[in-house]
Amino acid sequence: MSKGLRLSEKWFRRGLWLVALVFAGFLVGLGGLVVSDLPQVESQLTRERFLDATAAAPVTVRLEAIERESRNLAETRERAQLALTTARNEVASAERSFRDWLGTRTATQRSEQDPEVIARTRALDGLRAKAREAERALEALDTRATTLRQEQARLRASLAELEASADARLRQEERRQELRVFLYRLALTLPLIAVAGWLFAKKRQSSYWPFVWGFIFFALFTFFVELVPYLPSYGGYVRYIVGIVLTVVIGHYAIRAMQRYLERQKAAEAEPETARREKLAYDLVLARLAKKVCPGCERPLDFSDPTMNHCPHCGIGLFDRCLDCNTRKNAFARYCHACGAPAAQSVGATATP
Ligand SMILES: [Zn+2]
Ligand SMILES: [Zn+2]
Repeated sequence: MSKGLRLSEKWFRRGLWLVALVFAGFLVGLGGLVVSDLPQVESQLTRERFLDATAAAPVTVRLEAIERESRNLAETRERAQLALTTARNEVASAERSFRDWLGTRTATQRSEQDPEVIARTRALDGLRAKAREAERALEALDTRATTLRQEQARLRASLAELEASADARLRQEERRQELRVFLYRLALTLPLIAVAGWLFAKKRQSSYWPFVWGFIFFALFTFFVELVPYLPSYGGYVRYIVGIVLTVVIGHYAIRAMQRYLERQKAAEAEPETARREKLAYDLVLARLAKKVCPGCERPLDFSDPTMNHCPHCGIGLFDRCLDCNTRKNAFARYCHACGAPAAQSVGATATP
């Protein structure tokens, strides 16, 4: 993956990045298809699976029976209430007519009507007894309803207890399932991450770098989309710990990489100038000069100073003079920009302005 400055080369590189992205996109699509075609290893857990069926079944059956009986009882009570009202009305009207009749009798004082008084009183007593009976029936129904309500409350409480213990077991099993799902996904993802890491370390500079980077993107996508959201949480502990571990690992490698870079630079700066010039790639030198930094040590330089022929930090020659025409020129240039003479004939970075 050498960095070139040629116009076409730049566009080729952009095109190849596109290839990397498209390659990653197809890999992600294929990976998603494979995952969706995998057999569903874990089933959806429900509370029913953890409910103690032998204890819960009779309770539910009894509760259903109670509900049915309560409905019937309500209907029966309505009828009994109606019967009671009718009986009370009958008593009231009989009493009224008896009082009226007694009134007329007192007025006439006919003694032959005494047996009728007795008969009417008996009839009235019969009606009153009927009304009381209706009252008792209603009371019995109410008592039964109360008993049923109490039993229902008791049964519901014991069912709630059973359900609570089932829920506890369900949550426990859900946590276990979560862990298993994560481990399956880890088993699928870890090889991808390992391969991506190896490719990044060893192959990212190869001429097939678009495929290398495409695969790395794919592995990163898989890691963040297919693995990270399935990380068991344990109240957030795991996420933070994994985050800390990842940061420490990445930070460790970044620090090591920086130390290696500084050591390389130091070793390079200690080498003789000609050896250093040969090691610097032409396009890299041009890119660094365009950024106004020293091509050798990457420290910033003031290129407007016409007397600066060497880097004051590392001593590498920056400008020299053409042997043919004596024009001051870039010491790394392959040809003199004024006369076109090959730079091999230049005297090195020894010119004075
Ligand atoms: Zn320098
Ligand atoms: Zn020249």
